[in-house]
Amino acid sequence: MRVACAIVGGGLSGLHAASLLHRRGVDCCLLEARQRLGGRILSVQGDGADARFDLGPAWFWPDMQPRLRQLVDELGLAAFEQQTRGAILVERFKLEAPQRYERGFNTEPRSMRLQGGMQALVDALAATLPSSRIHCNAPVSAIRETPEGGLELTGPQGECWAIAERVILALPPRLVSRMTFSPPVPEPVARWCENTPTWMAGQAKCLAVYGEPFWTAKGFSGTASSFVGPMMEIHDASLPQGQPALFGFMGLSPAARQALGEAALKEAALAQLARLFGPEALTPVAVHLLDWAQQPETATRADWEPPMGHPAYGVPAPFESLWSGRLVLSGTETAPGQGGYLEGALEAAEAATSRF
Ligand SMILES: Cc1cc2nc3c(=O)[nH]c(=O)nc-3n(C[C@H](O)[C@H](O)[C@H](O)COP(=O)(O)OP(=O)(O)OC[C@H]3O[C@@H](n4cnc5c(N)ncnc54)[C@H](O)[C@@H]3O)c2cc1C
Repeated sequence: MRVACAIVGGGLSGLHAASLLHRRGVDCCLLEARQRLGGRILSVQGDGADARFDLGPAWFWPDMQPRLRQLVDELGLAAFEQQTRGAILVERFKLEAPQRYERGFNTEPRSMRLQGGMQALVDALAATLPSSRIHCNAPVSAIRETPEGGLELTGPQGECWAIAERVILALPPRLVSRMTFSPPVPEPVARWCENTPTWMAGQAKCLAVYGEPFWTAKGFSGTASSFVGPMMEIHDASLPQGQPALFGFMGLSPAARQALGEAALKEAALAQLARLFGPEALTPVAVHLLDWAQQPETATRADWEPPMGHPAYGVPAPFESLWSGRLVLSGTETAPGQGGYLEGALEAAEAATSRF
């Protein structure tokens, strides 16, 4: 396949870049390693077509994120507020009952969720592209300049996915550092890629779906923080059409999670929800656990040591365009404004495609 632009990575950044280029009439293709699109965005199905729970990102903040607000509007998606009404709980010590604070917890600006989960954004963006231009199960492991001047993108078995005039790398820089480039990219670029942490890649989310919202009946918001674990931060994840759910971010390290195993982790998470909200938590309709640290298309071993705080993201200016502008680094970690967030993924896509 010969194209003007090949985009590597079918997460939000790659999808947005492909959609922008397609709208401008640029012949492009999207190469995605996984069987599915979305990357760090992944929503699991509840009961009903539009009923989806997020195991990756769930929140956005329209007042601070103009690109995402505009895209959600353009794609005709509906947003709703994160539920925070009711008391919050803080679990400080193992042998002490959790403390209840009646005032609740409101972030300002309010966190918003998408009807249909963040997956709705992925599906709507993918629908703007011809399906013949989207290739899943197409991991790119090498990019080389051919004697004829094209850029050839190949897979681990040497499969040729595409020959392009330009390439946008819409994936975490740490994963770019695993690719082979011929001619090689300058050493400082390779080092920068390797040293740039992938935001949230070391995290894991556990989500429990219930028949009844037993915590709201007791005046709880579903928000809790814990120094006991295994989850350190818990929130309501119920769907607006009525399926109640709670989710939490795991506080255990990736290594501790791996040692414990999925079944024991889920059991410990449910036991914690029961300590906090009552014994009804032990009988969910479904439990989902997604350990992003175990996903090779997102995390490397270096991501098992998460950064202290939110890194200052953005590509150093000399690395912005490589190979005379034909190879461009993109993905949320390259965005100087809101790198790490969904908004950063859009910001990076806009910057990468602005050069066309
Ligand atoms: C648990 C969790 C919670 C989060 N919560 C929030 C939140 O509430 N709000 C928010 O704004 N952000 C949140 N984030 C961050 C948000 O998910 C990211 O900012 C965003 O999804 C990044 O999009 P991206 O396209 O830049 O990268 P990715 O989504 O990582 O996409 C990269 C794509 O490249 C593919 N790929 C990898 N290697 C190759 C290869 N060799 N060849 C081809 N394709 C390849 C991957 O499979 C993937 O699809 C969260 C992340 C996680 C993990």
